[in-house]
Amino acid sequence: MEQELKIEIERFSKRFANDESCLKFLEQIKWEEGFVCPNCGHTNYCKGATSHSRRCTRCKKDISPMANTLFHRCRIPLTVAFKMAYLTCKFPDISSYALNKEFNVRRMTCYNFQRKVRSCLDEGKHDIFVKALVSTLSSGTDRLQSDAVDKAGNDKL
Ligand SMILES: [Zn+2]
Repeated sequence: MEQELKIEIERFSKRFANDESCLKFLEQIKWEEGFVCPNCGHTNYCKGATSHSRRCTRCKKDISPMANTLFHRCRIPLTVAFKMAYLTCKFPDISSYALNKEFNVRRMTCYNFQRKVRSCLDEGKHDIFVKALVSTLSSGTDRLQSDAVDKAGNDKL
C-alpha cells in the first residue's frame, strides 16, 4: 500500500498543484447547476473579491467556493486538505498517523479532519467535494482528471 499511496499522492498533487486549481475545482462542482445565492436566492452573480468566489448582484454578498464544504474555516492548507480528504476516501483504513507522517500536519488536526470527511461519507451528507470524490472513485469517469487531460498539451512531466 505504501507504493500505491505514493503513486496516488503524486497523481493527485499534479492535478491539484496549488490553491488556484483547488478553488477552481470547488467552484465548478459547487455551481455546476447554476448559482443560487444562499443569502437571498438570487441567481445572478458577478466575480467576487477573492479568487473563484461569486458575488450576488442583488444582496452583494460574496460566496466563497469553500462555503459549506469541508474546507470552510479549515486551518490545513487547501492543497494538503484536498489530498487528505482524497486519501481518506480512497483508502478508508488510512490512519491519522500516516497522514501526519506524510504531510507534517499535527496528528490531532489530521484526526479531526478525517473525522469530518468520514462523517460526510457515513451519513451521506452533501458535501460537494466528498460527493465529487466518491463519484470519481466509484465510477470510471474521472472528474478529477478532466482538467489535466484538457491541458495535457501544456503540461510537461
Ligand atoms: Zn444574494
